[in-house]
Amino acid sequence: MNRLFKHILYTIAFLVSFSAVYFFPNSLTVKAAQSDAPTTLKLSLPFQVVSKWTNFTPKNNVFVADATDTWFVYGWFGSLELNKINANRYPLLDNRHQAIDYSAKEGLSVVAAADGRIGYVGSLYGTTVSIRHIEGYETIYGHLSRTDVVAGQKVKKGDIIGAAGYSGTVNSHLHFELRRYTEEGVWAINPRKLLATDWSKVIIPDFPANRFFLGDPRDPDQQANFLLPISYNIPK
Ligand SMILES: [Zn+2]
Repeated sequence: MNRLFKHILYTIAFLVSFSAVYFFPNSLTVKAAQSDAPTTLKLSLPFQVVSKWTNFTPKNNVFVADATDTWFVYGWFGSLELNKINANRYPLLDNRHQAIDYSAKEGLSVVAAADGRIGYVGSLYGTTVSIRHIEGYETIYGHLSRTDVVAGQKVKKGDIIGAAGYSGTVNSHLHFELRRYTEEGVWAINPRKLLATDWSKVIIPDFPANRFFLGDPRDPDQQANFLLPISYNIPK
């Protein structure tokens, strides 16, 4: 009787731990997809408020926000003119930018772009948070002034995870990166492809950070994904 009871207990414990791993994978190696495998992941903007900015003349290289300013696009994903002008800015990435930079007022709430589980909280692009999503995807939020989450925590789309700031950079902005873990390696994915956003409502100034190298497609949607070098891996 005692042995049977133990057996049942062990069986229950096994089933519980198995289903925990199966249904709530915290490890990115669980499902290694191809970079272009179909996905159901949809991203929303990492802010709760609409895009608004008034003055685009930086003071000492810093955009000055007025009381009602929020954020604007300052740096698309891909081969930016800005990186070409400042020659060899990211040589390991072939001078491409592996994220979208949103210039954002310091202290502006940053929210989860999709449901997931907090992967990393620490120092990468200044103070940084990552969220692991379905199908091997991970979003990364860099240069934060504050973090409100801990590793392993479950988050829903729209939950506040921290605030924008200028840790690790001069200008207060959010580095918003999308990665996909595959058998080939870690891909930098163009977030535009998964963001269902009405860009006509977003402020996108005509800056070199929002333009691409001559010869590349000029459409921010057409900037190709690329494999990240191992040195860009997130610390364990
Ligand atoms: Zn960036």
